[in-house]
Amino acid sequence: MRHIENWRSSGIQQSAFLVAGVGALGNEVAKNLALLGAGRIALVDFDTVSMSNLSRSVLFRAADVGLPKTDVAARALQDINPELRVLSWSADVTREIGVGVFRRMDLVFGCVDSVSARYHLNRSCWRAGVPWVEGGIAAHIGTVKAFRPPDSPCYECTMSLEDRKALRPKRLSCSDPPALASRLSTPTTPLIASITGAWMVQQGLAIMAGEDKGGLSWHINSASGESFPARYDRRLDCLTHDERFDRQDIIELPARAGSVSLGEFLDLASARLGSPTQLELGRSVVTSLTCPKCRQAEAVWLDRDDLVDQKRICPVCGYLRTPAYTQSIGRDPGLLDRSLADLSIPPLEIVVSTGNGRYGLFELTNDEETLLHWM
Ligand SMILES: [Zn+2]
Ligand SMILES: [Zn+2]
Repeated sequence: MRHIENWRSSGIQQSAFLVAGVGALGNEVAKNLALLGAGRIALVDFDTVSMSNLSRSVLFRAADVGLPKTDVAARALQDINPELRVLSWSADVTREIGVGVFRRMDLVFGCVDSVSARYHLNRSCWRAGVPWVEGGIAAHIGTVKAFRPPDSPCYECTMSLEDRKALRPKRLSCSDPPALASRLSTPTTPLIASITGAWMVQQGLAIMAGEDKGGLSWHINSASGESFPARYDRRLDCLTHDERFDRQDIIELPARAGSVSLGEFLDLASARLGSPTQLELGRSVVTSLTCPKCRQAEAVWLDRDDLVDQKRICPVCGYLRTPAYTQSIGRDPGLLDRSLADLSIPPLEIVVSTGNGRYGLFELTNDEETLLHWM
């Protein structure tokens, strides 16, 4: 058994950690947690190991190229600490993992590389009432931010104008030349990943022990050897601090995203709320595309971010079609028989329902046994 003498483990062996993003930073964070004797680590990343990862990822080897990062990392972590229990999801954390997963974690580490993924992690952690630590690296600069719901400032409170611009839908994402992406990315070394990953875990433990209340950030420059902290204020107009979402109010429903239909879900929700209800999607979904020229309309179900121009082209006349969006669904006859998974609701999601000025938080709890299968 792994044991560090004279080290106060602050309950790390009894705790579950989610590491979102298993790149250079995620490798370091997960490695540190395993060495410290963490009880459970869940890994989520949709990517596979590539040659370029090997120079800064301690858990990957050349023979792993092409395999899911989460599977490879999970195996390597159990080699480090055979008592560790792991979960490996080769999935997109912004779309395929419900808030109920976050609710079952003690601490979340954000090791992702996009503003939209950080934004999503922040929303999920706030809804689940779970503290999280966010890290980022570029060249020899690392940043670490720690957040503790419900009272500390959150990631959205710290977002700059540039961050907010990066959240807008990427209209041409499918046609972006790969060369542009590589020109924009800055090479990072294993050194800054190592320093930042260690700092994230140290700060996470301080949050768990109640020594840190959240809202602090650190800026680390591995080239000059300087680091300095900054404190953020909670923004009064920040929408993440949604007063309606209180984890005490979550109702566990005996349902699964893949099998409960929209109609059945609305029946369950309205029975509890005592009023007709709507399902709040929490994001914009495209429901139809209509051609302004030939007037043909097509019913679709598409995340706003996936609406690239290519999909908008009218198959009849070639004009760009106009999308219609929705953020909530009621008893739409065309959708009532479809499963929630069909409507892009992830397993173990906590679904918000509203009706007659009331609201309810309904968790799809029967997904727990299949999704949270610790190995
Ligand atoms: Zn906020
Ligand atoms: Zn047309």
